[in-house]
Amino acid sequence: MNGLLQRYAGVVGDDVIEHLLSLAKGLAGLRVVHVNSTRVGGGVAEILNKMVPFMQELGLAATWEVITGDETFFACTKTFHNALQGFAVMPTAGQLRSYERTNANNAERLRSVLADAEIVVIHDPQPAPLLGFVPERRGLWIWRCHIDLSRPHRPVWKYLLPHVVGYDASIFSLADFARRLPHPCYLIPPSIDPLAEKNIELEASEITDVRRRFNLDPDRFLVTQVSRFDRFKDPLGVIQAYRLVKSYVPGLQLVLAGGEATDDPEGAVVLEEVLAAAERDPDVRILLLPADAHRTINALQRASDLILQKSTREGFGLTVTEGLWKGKPVIGGNVGGIRLQVHDHQTGFLVDTPEGAALRMRYLLSHREIRERMGRTARLFVQENFLLTRHLLEYLALFHGLRKGQDDRIEVA
Ligand code: UDP
Repeated sequence: MNGLLQRYAGVVGDDVIEHLLSLAKGLAGLRVVHVNSTRVGGGVAEILNKMVPFMQELGLAATWEVITGDETFFACTKTFHNALQGFAVMPTAGQLRSYERTNANNAERLRSVLADAEIVVIHDPQPAPLLGFVPERRGLWIWRCHIDLSRPHRPVWKYLLPHVVGYDASIFSLADFARRLPHPCYLIPPSIDPLAEKNIELEASEITDVRRRFNLDPDRFLVTQVSRFDRFKDPLGVIQAYRLVKSYVPGLQLVLAGGEATDDPEGAVVLEEVLAAAERDPDVRILLLPADAHRTINALQRASDLILQKSTREGFGLTVTEGLWKGKPVIGGNVGGIRLQVHDHQTGFLVDTPEGAALRMRYLLSHREIRERMGRTARLFVQENFLLTRHLLEYLALFHGLRKGQDDRIEVA
């Protein structure tokens, strides 16, 4: 076992790493190509950044390709994203032409890699049409959809369907997100990397420094939500819940940490509303952090007594996983992947309203032992279910299964 694997073994145990190595043995040298549409920003890039080097470490010939496109292409795929999550919007005919042309051009550029690969994993709708432009492909192609497809805008799904039916398999994060397709569909939830800056253990002094930097009092309660300023993350509901609790828990502090203002006009509007709602309360901190402030977010989560993620719509909710991993109970919206992670009285509480969130906050803040017990359960729950190593085990098992799918018996080691 080399240095990197040993570091992971230190977190997840030798047996998990041994298991990974034994699954990887039969896949040595396997040419796996992941394809998505961005190298930075967003959960998919975050996961691939860790997963691809880990697969290489395990002996697979894994690579990661990124398709390139212009503004019209990304306007089209952003509309897809909104439509697939339920909005009644449709790209223009020109945008759809750009979508197909961009994929044709990328297929040309990546032709030899895609045709020769033994496994191709295409992430999300942006590169989905590549399959149709590589008829000479030799490998198995998997469509890995990270989006909630439970209630798509029909015309958009009807348009996309022909681009995904030809895949050999699909992967979704949750059963609720999947659609019926004419090939095997697998469920593999995302994961966090315990050795990433966002999640590694920190010295107490670093947490103290971050408290000082943002003028947070260590002797008073602190609750935190880390999220883009997006309506579906319900930051106004968080402030409302905080206000309801404040009269019972004087001195309570709230941190809402999000990204710096972006060109997303909707984000700027939500941020304005949040700033207005928090006005004149010195115990509410609205933090606009740079995209690489991973250690700061890590320290803020660790400095908190509990974590909030009061979304009204959510994909998986990596911020929930991050909070649980730091041994904090999470009070989360009763939606999407949060339901997979937050279990009432075990790892936190699911809530539907600001009043519900306030009730659970009051309860947890006034019961230290329960908070600590739930925090311990939370960490263990992530350790067993949502770390990168589990994610890799499932990918490797899937590769074995797909390659030997026709055999009666699959020997992996
Ligand atoms: N995040 C960040 N800075 C921010 C806001 C969020 O680094 O200002 C990170 C957060 O820690 C998490 C990811 O971005 O790792 C958000 O993933 P999640 O699944 O929670 O929500 P999404 O933004 O994908 O809807």
